[in-house]
Amino acid sequence: SQLGEAQEGLVISRFGQHADIEASDGTLQRCNLRRTISSLVTGDRVVWRPALNTQSDIKVNGIVEAVHERHSVLTRPDYYDGLKPIAANIDQIVVVSAILPELSLNIIDRYLVACETLGIQPIIVLNKIDLLDDENRQWVSELMKIYSDIGYKVLEVSSHTNEGMEELTDILAGKISVFVGQSGVGKSSLLNALLPNEQTILVNDVSDNSGLGQHTTTTARLYHFPQGGDVIDSPGVREFGLWHLSTEQVTKGFVEFKEYLGGCKFRDCKHLDDPGCLIREATDQGKIAESRFENYHRILESMEQVKPRGNFT
Ligand code: GDP
Repeated sequence: SQLGEAQEGLVISRFGQHADIEASDGTLQRCNLRRTISSLVTGDRVVWRPALNTQSDIKVNGIVEAVHERHSVLTRPDYYDGLKPIAANIDQIVVVSAILPELSLNIIDRYLVACETLGIQPIIVLNKIDLLDDENRQWVSELMKIYSDIGYKVLEVSSHTNEGMEELTDILAGKISVFVGQSGVGKSSLLNALLPNEQTILVNDVSDNSGLGQHTTTTARLYHFPQGGDVIDSPGVREFGLWHLSTEQVTKGFVEFKEYLGGCKFRDCKHLDDPGCLIREATDQGKIAESRFENYHRILESMEQVKPRGNFT
């Protein structure tokens, strides 16, 4: 069929040989993909051409001709393909944690390492603070200071009482984000509070015990926040995590270690109980948080056990 002029577009979702592209005028256009396109995921910026021929047997509005270079990409391990892209051009990763089911600094640290390795800015969001009395709140804020002290943005919020939600809205504006975190921390609740009603996010379906099966096949979708910014969401995106990383990547993922690296007595210092280890010393002096030091070693240990297909536990 005949094609119109080439235009810029944004991939809202992709399924098989089709993709829903948002045109510059805001309309959604279902497109076929040129065969030369090897990889296309939600968040990709593309060049597409509208199909001018509007015969009834043509079910698509256009064709995607080219994909612009990505500035970031989220991947997941695939049994056949190695690392498979699931979303592109993410500007920030909202690491959601909560008081309930558990506040796990280990899991936060794992996400932070993953974010640092990808080169994507993390934001730590602690949800469900409505569950805390004043005393516990102070204790939790102290804990979170571990992260603000090393340069991370930390927000304490409640999707139930709306506390902290304005600040979160501001942080999301003008950027493409993803929300990650353990099941039950409130990702769906936060997103549903932030998005207009007609864009309801799929809620956590507890009846689905299939684990990976169904979840990873669901396509990622991009949603616009009314106050600016976008989110890409899918069960696969939410499950994104630490795949196999080298020791060096994990070490680099602990940003506050940086100033001490290279200064240890031994070149191959494991930063454990090696003599003359500056990281151990800094931890002893309280310059590095004990929990960070411990989680660093826990992550390294799990890397030794978990090969490329692993996820985190
Ligand atoms: P997800 O698995 O991360 O998407 O978590 P959900 O959004 O499904 O929330 C899990 C549970 O936590 C639900 O029962 C929510 O009602 C509850 N929840 C979510 N946000 C809050 C909050 O701010 N405060 C309280 N008390 N409960 C919350």
